[in-house]
Amino acid sequence: MKSKSILVAVVAAVLVPLALFVRTFLASPLRMPRPYAGPLPTANPPQELAVFAVVTGVNHRNAAFGYRGGSFFERREFSMAGTLVKHPKGDLLIDTGFGRHIDEQFRTLPLLFRTITFYSLWQPAADQLKAAGYDPTSLHAILLTHSHWDHVSGLPDFPGVPVWVTPPEREFIRKSGRMDICKLFTGIRYEEYAFEAGPYLGFPASHDVYGDGSVVVVPASGHTPGSVIIFVTLSGGTRYAFVGDLVYQLEGITQREERSWLVRRSGADEDAEGNRQNMLRLIALKERLPELIIVPAHDMRAFAQMPRLSPASGEARH
Ligand SMILES: [Zn+2]
Ligand SMILES: [Zn+2]
Repeated sequence: MKSKSILVAVVAAVLVPLALFVRTFLASPLRMPRPYAGPLPTANPPQELAVFAVVTGVNHRNAAFGYRGGSFFERREFSMAGTLVKHPKGDLLIDTGFGRHIDEQFRTLPLLFRTITFYSLWQPAADQLKAAGYDPTSLHAILLTHSHWDHVSGLPDFPGVPVWVTPPEREFIRKSGRMDICKLFTGIRYEEYAFEAGPYLGFPASHDVYGDGSVVVVPASGHTPGSVIIFVTLSGGTRYAFVGDLVYQLEGITQREERSWLVRRSGADEDAEGNRQNMLRLIALKERLPELIIVPAHDMRAFAQMPRLSPASGEARH
């Protein structure tokens, strides 16, 4: 009798936490917010404004890693990518994806993370631009969605190019957390910018990069303290939102699913509640503007909707 009760206790001790753990991966959509009802800002983008996907490699994950309700058995190649924004006043690279030294950089990350992470480097952004015949002097700045390893790895490949960050993200880089590789870099020219303008598409403040409304940055802290979303509006009216790691996969918005508790707790989000609020803002905006193209940094499907660099696009300078 005693051995039976011990067995029950042991089984309960194992099964109950296991069940609770598995539950954190099950679908649990956020409440549907009311659609964004504010003004739609006008933009006067130049004809030449264009965006190009610069996918530098992939991280081999599964859907469950990306969002609650995702399957453990559905393999997903998470894009490791940057985006080139061409503008007559000077081009921007939104994040770098993997750089030339990703293997050395990766070895400095925590052991547990390395044990569950398998990536493939395709071609670093700097080499893709070069192969496309891109004139490196056209690159005005690198604009980071945030400073995690997989977004900054290529910074050393662009010596002398300013790196634009928000003050909280600059501070976050200084503190050098577990997933930071910026500490390995020397000579990076960080330049801080402020959100000098008012609310924009449901976000409380904004920064208009060129003064023509074509590239507008808004604060979206949570994943990291200085994370941002970058809106790009092309002359034909196509509107992109580069959301960094606000969500890992599009289901974060379309199914309103956060990352699982385990993924969030294992270093994905500095402030889960802050990230949730910004997810809700974007979900509300997508309800109002279904045509908005949302580009999570790690969703390959989003990058598939964008043109890629080619020798022709690289040379087609203004
Ligand atoms: Zn991140
Ligand atoms: Zn990332």
